[in-house]
Order: sequence, then structure tokens, then C-alpha cells
Amino acid sequence: MPVAKVQKQAQAGPLRAIAPATQRVVLRTVEKGSRRPVPVKLHLHGEAGEYLAPVDRHRLPNPAWYEDWSVDFLNQGTHWCTYVPGETTVDLPLGRVYLEISKGFEIKPIRKVLQVTPATREITVEIEKVLPWRERGWVSADTHVHFLSPTSALLEGSGEGVNVVNLLASQWGELMTNVGDFDGHTTHGSVEAGGDGEYLVRVGTENRQHVLGHISLLGYEGRIIAPMTTGGPDESALGDPVECLLTEWAQQCRRQKGVVVLPHFPNPRAEHAASIVSEAIDAVEMTSWGDLYSGISPYSLADWYRYLNCGYMVAAVGGTDKMSANTAVGAVRTYARIADGQPFTYDAWKEAVRAGRTFVTYGPLLEWQVEGQLPGSRIKMHKGGGTVSVAWNLASVTVPMSRLELIVNGEIRESKALRKWEDAGEWTVKVDRTSWLALLVRGQHAGRPEMIAAHSSPVMVEVAGTQVIPAADAITILEQIEGALAYLDTIGTRAETEAYRRMRLVLTSAHRSLHNRLHQQGSFHEHSPLTDHPEHH
Ligand SMILES: [Zn+2]
Ligand SMILES: [Zn+2]
Repeated sequence: MPVAKVQKQAQAGPLRAIAPATQRVVLRTVEKGSRRPVPVKLHLHGEAGEYLAPVDRHRLPNPAWYEDWSVDFLNQGTHWCTYVPGETTVDLPLGRVYLEISKGFEIKPIRKVLQVTPATREITVEIEKVLPWRERGWVSADTHVHFLSPTSALLEGSGEGVNVVNLLASQWGELMTNVGDFDGHTTHGSVEAGGDGEYLVRVGTENRQHVLGHISLLGYEGRIIAPMTTGGPDESALGDPVECLLTEWAQQCRRQKGVVVLPHFPNPRAEHAASIVSEAIDAVEMTSWGDLYSGISPYSLADWYRYLNCGYMVAAVGGTDKMSANTAVGAVRTYARIADGQPFTYDAWKEAVRAGRTFVTYGPLLEWQVEGQLPGSRIKMHKGGGTVSVAWNLASVTVPMSRLELIVNGEIRESKALRKWEDAGEWTVKVDRTSWLALLVRGQHAGRPEMIAAHSSPVMVEVAGTQVIPAADAITILEQIEGALAYLDTIGTRAETEAYRRMRLVLTSAHRSLHNRLHQQGSFHEHSPLTDHPEHH
């Protein structure tokens, strides 16, 4: 296109030349007080707002699905960044250059203006860790990343301060991704694999069915659990029958020592109910995709609360479901508390998630105890109940905090305005029946709506003789299991008889187990015609 033509059509006035970027500079990022280079997320731009990429990175990052080959992050499409391993070469213009560096939720992000002269050959930037969550035994994780190579995932994870990246192989119709990276035993970055053991990548699978749901099988050992998709498009290939359930994939993953997560909870969802009632699920995942500003979906929480109300203890985890450079690894992440006295390893991380010692966050970090017990704990109380003390300690260096809520059995019991960057306190809470307690933290970026920025896993307080399941929640769960059965019986592409019968049995026994509990406590409930029974007539 001739420049003259552009100039003629330019609405904003005459064109200006952007200063050429010809000053070659080595940029180093080191931890404060050390010379050790550390991986970070980097953004640089010049006076005209032009993005300045390192010489070996995309000048125009690629936003397309399954095309993020060069460790970039598009950041809402407008604020491009890349991940660098502690030292990088970049061509800068002379004059002012604007730099932004970040590395997760415990390190203070840096913004500064650099003056580049013909003498500038090297720039060193120090980053500083200000929140000691890692020192207190918490490690961060993304439970859900696609397509990156394990080595790229290791760089992006360490650049984002994410200790554990779960890279998930999957099938998308006729496309198989990361299957060659799955070997059922290697944890990239571990000491055994030649790393420093601080940043880890493990390849698992996301097994998917477009109606029944998706299920993430993390860190399991041995052979890949396949088929990874069933039942035809969108997830599976044309003509594939429904030959395996989420619950069965989950049980196989458990046998292979993995952790089972329902990703991007709650959709798609038809079999979630059966898999949770079958106690095959360790955690539900809160997801961000490319969205940094909407926070944890209340819809996702409301559905999770229903299962907690019925006594099904599933932890909360955070995972991005990153499929392109539009999403940063760990934009929403899991913090898990490694058991006291244990070194941090991938196995110790799995154990922490199974135990429910977790919280999910977009930035705020939390530490809290009920009667001195961490989330995931069960506290037993005598008949009649009593009071429990809830102590909390919050801090953030990225998202300003606004409000803290104590959730008891799905309802807000306490609510308190927060100081933006750190706050602490204690509540005394009366508990007269079996209850779960969790913390919800709201936060707000300048000029954006308030969002749910963090949520803990629950503590269960069991008051003797008061385990009552709310009928409305239980019936909704039963209806979902009935929906999964109806799908299998009607529009699901029918597998051969043996597989069909086997799957039906899994769903009907899940239905029966909750239904029986409901009857034992004498709750009256309506039935759909499919599952009506004579006791009601
Ligand atoms: Zn999925
Ligand atoms: Zn996914």
C-alpha cells in the first residue's frame, strides 16, 4: 500500500515516523540481592506506544487457537507481553522506553521508564518478592493448560510464578494434541529430571464428552487413559459411540494415582452429578480463559455449593484452560498447602489438592483457619454444636481487595470491607448443625467492576447427629443424573450392548446412593416419570 494513500485516508492527522529501534541491549532480570537471572513476563514499548519485542520473539503475537508457538501473551489483545528466561536481547529506540515486568502474585510488578542512549548496552532490573506464601508452604498451580510444549510451559509457568503447570493432552475430533509429550512418569523441572524442583510441568489428559462433560486427569502414572473423547462431534470424531463415562475415566485415573478435576465447572455438565456423588472427583475448577476482569463465576460457585451442602467434599482449584496466547498461564490459579515438614514435589502437590488444602485466586492470597485447622479439614463437634473461631490473613500485590465474606452452607454469614493490600482478623461463629465454612474475597481493578477475586476450599464442621441434606439441592442433583441417563438412552450414539449396560449401571448406582440418603432422612420429593417409585403413592 503506498504511504501517500494511507496519509490521504488518515483521520488523525499527518503520519509520524516512529523512532527506529536500533540500539541493541541485553536486558537482565534478577532477584533482589542476587545475581541470579529469573524468568519473567516482559512488556516494553516506545514513545509512540509501539510494542518492542526481544529479537527472538514475535513482533506481532499470534492470537489464534493452537498457534501460540512463541511464548507470548496478548493481554486483552492490546498490551502484548512475552516470557523471557532472565536474559534477553532487544533492539530499543533512543530516548524513553517504557518497561513492565511481572512474575506472579507474590512479586511486586514493576513499571518504569528507561532512558536509552548510544552508551546503553545492558539493563538490569531487580524484582522483589514481597508476599511470603511460598515460604509458608503454599505452592501455586494452573490445573489446565493446552498445546504448549513442556519446555515452553516451564518457561511460561516460571515467568508467571506458577510452581505447577498441568499440561493436558487431548483429542479434538481428528486432532490429537500433546500426546507425544505424555509418558506417564516425567515431571519436567523436577530434580530427578534435571531441574531445580521449584517449577514443574506434568502432562496429563483432559478427556471430553460434549454433553456428559469434560474431566481433567492430572499427573497419573502409566499408560494414557484413552479414548480421550467419545460420542462424536464436537469433541470426538464423527461416528464415535458414547463408550466411556466421566466417572469411569475418573476411577481409572485414581487407580493410576492421579488427581481428578472437573474443569471449567460447571459446563458441559450432564454427568458431573453422577461423578461427584460416586465420590470420584477431587476438585472443581474455576476458569478464566482470556478474561482477567470478570473474576470467579458466581454460577460456577452456586453449583459447587450445592454439592458441599449435600456433604460431598470437593476442593476448589483454579485453571485457565489456556488454548492460545490470549490467555496467560496462571491468570487464575490454585494455591495448595504442602503438608508440614514435606518437601515440595509433584506428589506432595497432588496430596495437598486431594486433601482440599487449597484456594483459587486472581491475585489476593489468603491464609485462614477454623479452630486452627486448614481448609479441607473436618472438625467434629458434640451434639448441640457450639462456636468456632475463624482467623484470616489476606494480602495482594496485583488485584486491590475490597471485601471479605464468610460463607456458611452457601450463605453469607459475615461480610467486611477490606484494606486494599493487606488485612487480617478473626470471627467467632456459632455452629448448631453440620456446616461447611469458606472464605470469599472480592477485589476490584481501577475502572473495572468488582469481582470475586479469590475463594477458599471449605472446612467441614460436623455436629453429631445433624447431617441433613437439603432436599432442593439433592433433587437438582438427582435430576442431573436422570438427564445423563436419558442422554445415554436416547440421543447419545449407542455403543455396543455390553458398554451401554456397564455405563447405565454406573449412573443408576450413583442415583440410588443419593436417593437412598434422601429417603433415610424422610424428605419428600417429586420424581420425573422415568424414576418414579411406588413408595410415593
Ligand atoms: Zn474442557
Ligand atoms: Zn481444556
